[in-house]
Amino acid sequence: MMRRSKVAVVGAGVVGVSTAVCVAEKLPSCSVTLLSDKFTPDTTSDGAAGMLIVDQYPDIPLERQRCWFRDSFDHLLAIVQSQNTLETGVLLSSGFHIFKEPPVNKKPYWWDFVLGFRFLSERELRRFPEYTFGQAFTTIKCECSTYLPWLHQRFTKAGGKVEQKKVSSLEELSPDYDVIVNCSGLGSKDLVADNEVYPVRGQILKMDAPWLHHFIRLEKGTTYIYPGSRYVTLGGTRQEGDWRLGVDPGDSESILKRCTQLEPSLRGGKVLGGWVGFRPSRRNPRVEREVPRLGGGAHVVHNYGHGGFGVALAWGTAIDATGMVRSCLQERYPHAKL
Ligand SMILES: Cc1cc2nc3c(=O)[nH]c(=O)nc-3n(C[C@H](O)[C@H](O)[C@H](O)COP(=O)(O)OP(=O)(O)OC[C@H]3O[C@@H](n4cnc5c(N)ncnc54)[C@H](O)[C@@H]3O)c2cc1C
Repeated sequence: MMRRSKVAVVGAGVVGVSTAVCVAEKLPSCSVTLLSDKFTPDTTSDGAAGMLIVDQYPDIPLERQRCWFRDSFDHLLAIVQSQNTLETGVLLSSGFHIFKEPPVNKKPYWWDFVLGFRFLSERELRRFPEYTFGQAFTTIKCECSTYLPWLHQRFTKAGGKVEQKKVSSLEELSPDYDVIVNCSGLGSKDLVADNEVYPVRGQILKMDAPWLHHFIRLEKGTTYIYPGSRYVTLGGTRQEGDWRLGVDPGDSESILKRCTQLEPSLRGGKVLGGWVGFRPSRRNPRVEREVPRLGGGAHVVHNYGHGGFGVALAWGTAIDATGMVRSCLQERYPHAKL
């Protein structure tokens, strides 16, 4: 009998689980194991607002970033349009992205993938007197605390195995696997000694305000109001290198004040609680093969460092990383059927 190639995916946030599902489904002859110290509901991904709105990374070809966004958007849109949308945590979300001054590029690079993209009219802008420019569109909100359990089931259905474990070095896994995919987010700081990864602290408030249906986001995502399936997410903060995990009352007050200025009806809402997470940030995410192979023979593919856009780009980068896993296996076993 032919030996099955063995692939390990390290990290069970949205990037790791998406990658594990993609590898298991697209390379069905492989045995895939998802190894992680934390799983849903305890990952950073679980608390993220999960909006598909992204900024551009500085040094990655735009066409590649467009593929990541398109593949993610289309994957999630297909879920929204399927019958099991309620149990997946994926929903459509329409609203406004507003600016004090028009940005250099009036259309973001992903304008033609989201639905119904247009500029705000003067009449619509009157509602936001301090802002001179706005974009309106329908995008997707992917709520990971529901989406990740659903994706885990999809992984198990595809034959994937799960192991709870803190990995102290990729070398330790090398004798047991042909390819290791590193999706450890901020954990890559220690796991692969990457000093380019750093935390950007983000605090949000969860509010009960069920009359709100449209998102409002200020440029660069400094302040936002994102209605979701169970509560409205109010944000935010972007504090580089700040490792404080506790909810800061000063931040809560500032978030509430900024959001209420944008949407005065929030005065009638009830704050349900706060949450803090660390965006696994890097100048550019690392989605690449490592050369050479590890001592024990395993190839390594990295997929981490998505910063504030990991939910939005998880599926697209997972497809990219899966292509790299395929090439590693083809090099190692040129005659194997994948
Ligand atoms: C307030 C806030 C709001 C956000 N809003 C959005 C948004 O609207 N849209 C968006 O796209 N993104 C948003 N983000 C960003 C998003 O949360 C991240 O980009 C995303 O969660 C990164 O996913 P990940 O899988 O790389 O990392 P994580 O979710 O952090 O997962 C990392 C995984 O690796 C595991 N791990 C780490 N080290 C090891 C090790 N040594 N051994 C074993 N396992 C290990 C961890 O246990 C965990 O399971 C937001 C973030 C914050 C904080």
